[in-house]
Amino acid sequence: MRDIDQIYIDGTFVTPHGEERAELFNPSTEDKIGSVRLGDRDDAHAAIAAAKRAFPIHARSSKAERMNMLAALSAAVLARAPELTAAMAEEYGAPQYFTGFAVQHAASAFLDMAKVLRDYEFTRQIGRAEVTMQPVGIAAAITPWNSNYGFICSKLATAIAAGTTIVIKPSEMSAIQTQLLTECLHEAGLPKGLFNIVNGRGYIVGAEFSRHPDIAKVTFTGSTAVGKQILKFGAETLKRVTLELGGKGPNIVLDDADLDVAIPNVLRAGLMNSCQACVAGTRILVPVNRMEEVHAKLKEGIAAFKAGGPADPDVRIGPMVSSKQHERVQSYIRLGLEEGADLLAGGPGRPDGIERGWFSRPTIFTNVRNDMRIAREEIFGPVLSVLAYHDDDEAIRIVNDTTYGLQAYLHGRDPDRLQVFADRLESGRIVINGAPHEPLAPFGGFKQSGLGREFGAYGLEGFLEPRAVLS
Ligand code: NAD
Repeated sequence: MRDIDQIYIDGTFVTPHGEERAELFNPSTEDKIGSVRLGDRDDAHAAIAAAKRAFPIHARSSKAERMNMLAALSAAVLARAPELTAAMAEEYGAPQYFTGFAVQHAASAFLDMAKVLRDYEFTRQIGRAEVTMQPVGIAAAITPWNSNYGFICSKLATAIAAGTTIVIKPSEMSAIQTQLLTECLHEAGLPKGLFNIVNGRGYIVGAEFSRHPDIAKVTFTGSTAVGKQILKFGAETLKRVTLELGGKGPNIVLDDADLDVAIPNVLRAGLMNSCQACVAGTRILVPVNRMEEVHAKLKEGIAAFKAGGPADPDVRIGPMVSSKQHERVQSYIRLGLEEGADLLAGGPGRPDGIERGWFSRPTIFTNVRNDMRIAREEIFGPVLSVLAYHDDDEAIRIVNDTTYGLQAYLHGRDPDRLQVFADRLESGRIVINGAPHEPLAPFGGFKQSGLGREFGAYGLEGFLEPRAVLS
């Protein structure tokens, strides 16, 4: 049993003023594994005050000083990688392939930002004007539970590189992971107040960070509904806002695709992080003339996506994070059947042989129309929809007929055709034939998948404000 009783303010672990407790669970077993004492508005104010005191000094720090801080943070995370992995496995339930990636990704976020910082020109001459990129002011980060380490570390890395200080409110469902990560970050020995981490309810601590006049910038990852709320809160003081929100990623098989290569990539993109991923490619678009072949390969392929707890290295699909999230996924599976889609794999209930834990069966619906809710709404669980198209124009029409536009996946043989197709997609990122992640490229959504960009120089500029001096 872990009881998390402290938050991190001004370089110190302190007991929060807030007294409410939230329970913490192991989603693979449904067992209660601890609790977290939550911060309140007073704690939010204390964190903001600490970040405000630290700001003037950090804003004037040199590139070299910031790069040293980033290197120290990365090393501090790596130093406790096995414990971080174990905490994520217990509290989030992710399979081993994902926990391993998540911890490395969190540590490398600091080094990636250090590279950006090394090459970034803060000052440039434009005619008579000397333009300097200034830190935007104190930042607030609000993050979800589906990759707790990565979101905290990438937002913190960007703030440090930009010369801003930051207050962070992670998901209250990730408190054990947050505690351990905060201990690592503390070990890096950064100046007091530079970063502050407050557990708390979204509508209390998150809302306070989004409204407070001393916060100049909010960087949020989470649902589209909460993102809109944060934008409204921030409007009163004209905060700069970066929103990384939901998605309903298209996973498009072109008619010339080699299905032996494409279908494993389709399934990997569709089911990554147990489908608790904003970038999951959950709408599979297939040309009608290859539908039967694709059905056969999907059915065969999904059988390899074993569901289960994190102790088994062969597992590819972990539990849903909470009973609420599990019930939500189950309700979408029932909805798909009610809407008249056909089941190719999976269905309601737990996977065979699993009696406890918030597991769902990896499910594929076929004969899905784009007006069905299972094709339009983000499910955030292992439920994929197959939609048919007759030609490229129809495929593009279906793909772009959504309120989302975060990440799309294209599978085909002809590079010129893939490029032409990619140019017509309304999507912040397009991944062709399973291309690997590019950490310095901008990440963010078109339409209601977000506002602004993270990562690389584009992400850094989200924490900066240009100032022109004319002489
Ligand atoms: P959520 O929006 O419910 O919560 C995210 C964070 O916001 C949490 O820390 C929560 O406490 C806080 N919050 C809740 N209400 C708030 C309020 N009124 N004011 C301020 N903060 C508030 O999302 P979630 O359920 O934790 O995560 C799942 C969602 O996140 C999905 O929609 C998913 O697509 C999205 N997501 C997006 C990305 C991306 O990069 N685009 C990445 C991962 C997850």
